[in-house]
Amino acid sequence: MEGKTHVGLGIFAYVFSWGKLPGKFNIIGLIIAAIIALLPDIDHPKGIINQYILPIKDKTTKMFIYICIASVILWLDYNYFKEPALQCLSMFLFCAGVNSHRNGISHSLAGLTIFTVIASYFGEKYNADFVVTAVFLGYGSHLIGDMFTKHGVPLLYPFSNKKYKMPLTYKVGSKDGKLIEKFLLLAIFGYILYILTGPERMMWYV
Ligand SMILES: [Zn+2]
Repeated sequence: MEGKTHVGLGIFAYVFSWGKLPGKFNIIGLIIAAIIALLPDIDHPKGIINQYILPIKDKTTKMFIYICIASVILWLDYNYFKEPALQCLSMFLFCAGVNSHRNGISHSLAGLTIFTVIASYFGEKYNADFVVTAVFLGYGSHLIGDMFTKHGVPLLYPFSNKKYKMPLTYKVGSKDGKLIEKFLLLAIFGYILYILTGPERMMWYV
């Protein structure tokens, strides 16, 4: 699934879940959900986030940069912070750097759990509970979105490498795939417009 479609799905998941999950609607939460929806693709050298991080968009550079970032976080944590959440983040980034695209931790329930736990730790520390919901929904929407693609996702990694997918799938980048994603983005845009202007618009002011 393309990056912009993941962003759309993250926004949709957050808006759709408002009122059904704990916590008030929060515009920062919406932005977090949209950004976190891109996070699992850090295992792809050409993923949107990596477009800004990697000087050269190939596997070796990705591995090197992520191992460096993970080491710096671990060093800072050991010397200054001593926060278990930072140790988890470092471990996650190390694994995402080493794993190839959609074959490792960032596309698994383990990745979703790690980030939700990190979010709940910082959410509690800084009294910002909405961050947990935003991270969970943004990350979860990415995994569900990729389950509609032919490649599927290794949901149970590291316990199993089996790829899980929906009964109906499409090939990312194919003519049909591009059309499906365009249609999906349009539908999400229509839904958000309805929420902004329809009878449910009051949610924005609660
Ligand atoms: Zn993905």
